[in-house]
Amino acid sequence: MLESGVLVLNRVYQPVHVTSVRRAICLLYQGVAKAIDEQFQLFDFESWSDLAAAANHDVIHIPRVIVLLAYEHLPKARVRFSRFNIYARDDSTCQYCGRRLPRSELNLDHVLPRSRGGSTTWENVVCSCVACNLRKGGRSPDEAGMRLMRAPSRPRWTPVFRSATRRAFYREWMPFLSMAEAAYWNAELLE
Ligand SMILES: [Zn+2]
Repeated sequence: MLESGVLVLNRVYQPVHVTSVRRAICLLYQGVAKAIDEQFQLFDFESWSDLAAAANHDVIHIPRVIVLLAYEHLPKARVRFSRFNIYARDDSTCQYCGRRLPRSELNLDHVLPRSRGGSTTWENVVCSCVACNLRKGGRSPDEAGMRLMRAPSRPRWTPVFRSATRRAFYREWMPFLSMAEAAYWNAELLE
């Protein structure tokens, strides 16, 4: 149960990320965040605990959505270039052999090797299994006789929501996720 995700909203109810239940309870306990129920009512730690008591449960009810009280940052319009997000973009799939593997068995490959002037960008870095990485070595895919499953590019979605919705999707997230999409697309248009 503690593995499931909790959607975190900023002060203006825009989703900023998905966190663990443990962390969400912690933020609630510290008074940094409030839990929000399906009727959009806010609860601090004490009143949230009272709900469990009222329902005769001896354990605290797990919030699905929390609201940060002081966090005003908007979700990033640009997807952060990070290992996590590259794996999310490539769906944890080796872009050479197409095998989907646990993250521990994957690494990042520079399509055009760095030693040859290849850049560390969305367009030149892909998810690769260790075997393909070794086979390719310091060569370009052409030289190594290997083919990319698809040309790498900067993702247009917000990976945290994509992977979160794939992992576990809660209907309580729905109203906020559609707002996230709106915020995301609006931000793109302003550029
Ligand atoms: Zn591979």
